[in-house]
Amino acid sequence: MSAMLELEGVTSGYDGIPIIRDVTFEIGEGQILAVVGRNGAGKTTLARTIIGLLQPSRGKILLRGEDVTRSDARERALAGIGYVPQGRGIFGRLTVDENLLLGTAVGKRAASERALVDVYKLFPILEQRRLQKGGTLSGGEQQMLAIGRVLIGAPSLLVLDEPSDGIQPSIVEQISNLVVQLNQDHGLTTLLVEQNIDMVVSCAHRCFVMDKGSIVTEVSPKGLEDPEFARQYLAV
Ligand code: ATP
Repeated sequence: MSAMLELEGVTSGYDGIPIIRDVTFEIGEGQILAVVGRNGAGKTTLARTIIGLLQPSRGKILLRGEDVTRSDARERALAGIGYVPQGRGIFGRLTVDENLLLGTAVGKRAASERALVDVYKLFPILEQRRLQKGGTLSGGEQQMLAIGRVLIGAPSLLVLDEPSDGIQPSIVEQISNLVVQLNQDHGLTTLLVEQNIDMVVSCAHRCFVMDKGSIVTEVSPKGLEDPEFARQYLAV
């Protein structure tokens, strides 16, 4: 399997203070890889470094073998990295349609009615709410909108930062099913940064554990259900 994304000794943080240190791993093309860890472990910092919002102070990031370490977030989006931030980042005063069309401005695919149709096929509930303002959607619908907005840009790598955050369990299950469906039907490679064990178990192929800014171990997603493991690595 060829690598979609490779991190080699990546150190990154804020204002010169390292938060993640010497992080090395790769995601194979077509894999769903989860990174779990307790609050403050550095998961969001890792995601922001991968998508180019933070520049690493050391190490390399390769996308399909190409060095993107010095590319900014816009260049990485054009190269195929799609990012759904924690908290979703949708525009509350814009309609569902308008939010989705914004996705075509940053991704690889040009704006088109066709692109919207594809997203509405995945999320019929959003189609029913096309003209509704993003801020009036439920938490789960907002998460679907945020994911739809990224998919519209036709990413090769989808980076999801805690998609389960603030969403009721039945909707988390729907989002998990969607991640699996996108992977099975379109081979979409996904990096899932999560604390929700059920979500990781139901969709990830592999799982890394992050603690204090480092990847400390790999565990099978099922292995997360071991209470001793959860106590050691995930309890706050
Ligand atoms: P959570 O699950 O709570 O979102 P996380 O694993 O995603 O946690 P990060 O958000 O990456 O963790 O935070 C890791 C560390 O980086 C924390 O100690 C946090 O205070 C610090 N940090 C995060 N954002 C900034 C920032 N903008 N400036 C300075 N430090 C920050």
